[in-house]
Amino acid sequence: SQCPWGAPNTTSISCSLADVMSEQLAKELQVEEENAAFPEVVAVAEGPFITGENVDTSSDLMLAQMLQMEFDREYDAQLRREEKKINGDSKVSISFENYRKVHPYDSDSSEDEVDWQDTRHDPYRADKPTTTPRKGFTGKGKDITTKHDEVVCGRKNTARMENFAPEFQVGDGIGMDLKLSNQVFNALKQHAYSEERRSARLHEKKEHSTAEKAVDPKTRLLLYKMVNAGMLETITGCISTGKESVVFHAYGGKSATEDKVMLPECAIKVFKTTLNEFKNRDKYIKDDYRFKDRFSKLNPRKVIRMWAEKEMHNLTRMQDAGIPCPQVVILKKHVLVMSFIGQDQVPAPKLKDVTLSSEDMKKAYCQTLNMMQQLYKECNLVHADLSEYNMLWHDGKVWLIDVSQSVEPTHPHGLEFLFRDCRNVSQFFQKGGVAEALNERELFNAVSGLNIAADNEVDFQAEIEALEKMNEDHVQNHGKKLSMFSSNGDPPIYDE
Ligand code: ADP
Ligand code: MN
Repeated sequence: SQCPWGAPNTTSISCSLADVMSEQLAKELQVEEENAAFPEVVAVAEGPFITGENVDTSSDLMLAQMLQMEFDREYDAQLRREEKKINGDSKVSISFENYRKVHPYDSDSSEDEVDWQDTRHDPYRADKPTTTPRKGFTGKGKDITTKHDEVVCGRKNTARMENFAPEFQVGDGIGMDLKLSNQVFNALKQHAYSEERRSARLHEKKEHSTAEKAVDPKTRLLLYKMVNAGMLETITGCISTGKESVVFHAYGGKSATEDKVMLPECAIKVFKTTLNEFKNRDKYIKDDYRFKDRFSKLNPRKVIRMWAEKEMHNLTRMQDAGIPCPQVVILKKHVLVMSFIGQDQVPAPKLKDVTLSSEDMKKAYCQTLNMMQQLYKECNLVHADLSEYNMLWHDGKVWLIDVSQSVEPTHPHGLEFLFRDCRNVSQFFQKGGVAEALNERELFNAVSGLNIAADNEVDFQAEIEALEKMNEDHVQNHGKKLSMFSSNGDPPIYDE
């Protein structure tokens, strides 16, 4: 008798049970399958890929996150409305706190929504205190109440409590006609502040961990907004991840609404908002008089924005002097958009990475010397991080980049920074075989116009420090800086 379903298929399976059970094999198959389904389309491994059109699917995750953020906020707003409706005038209220998506202090503080440009005025100027009239009482006749009146004071404390922070759970104190004693009020105030600080710390941690990888969600949102506004067309990927910044490449937008010229390709420098890095920078900015007044009053996040602002101002000065450098497109908070040095997404190589013909090498040297002089004399700046790492070779010439730390020569350490720059430049070109290359001391004199005669490093350094000290003493005594160090070896010019 024949089996109605035909002969059983006896072709043996090529792998053994051990193979089938093998985790190793399962993993390999899985990877193979994934590779087939999701071929490698990403050119640069890091960073968000943001596009206006929905071409690049790898940006979907980010777009989803953006939408989620917006949704969460709307959801919470709705929840707040419902909470209000349900509670009405009731003396006992039900809190929906646990249902919120964005938890108190987790959300964007309004402070963060303010553009750096708007914070030029002291952001921490205290609100004018609301005082009881100078006479110390209000009302007339037997209705007089003094500021010490317990009931009024209690109510006032209750009302003041509402000001702690928008989301701090104070309950419905006013509705219940609650009267807080000063003691209770102060205890609550203390609690509110420590709560705020605790939350800020948590927040910091979260931001720190994400900033390490690429950029934090707020920055992504900022970038997203730029694409949305048509300012940029596509953010293609990350060019560089440094200790203090992340640089992205982008194609410029087509938008004709802005009267700004849209560049075909842009570089976006995102200054990292992590706190530990900013410490390394404060020696540059702390003593820079242009930022002196602001430094002490600003929080770290704002100091980072100051770096971006500094880079923008310095680039603008250089552009005005005709020094080859990126052109500023726009500054938003800690994100600086500038022209891209390079072509077709490929950034121009750093001087340290190109092999130049001896002719080009000599050309590059002469140009560098020239630029250093221009930078000093026309821009009144010292680069302060000049080396083959921050010079790009593009279009047959040297381009200067990375000028957020640049300072004016009269900065308390300005001349030391200049000397360090000279040492880097001199060593690079001497090693590169440029016979004409001045040594570091000659270069320093050629750039600054100071005729420091010392023929050895130690004495030279000492003279530089003496000049800096003289400048500082002048500041101490006259409350003013030297307008500049003399350019012909004469004593410094004082700005009286
Ligand atoms: P960092 O402080 O991280 O050194 P930089 O301004 O030097 O920041 O930028 C880091 C790298 O990004 C540079 O070495 C360069 O390769 C690239 N880069 C920065 N700006 C531009 C630009 N405008 N065009 C092309 N590449 C750039
Ligand atoms: Mn750099």
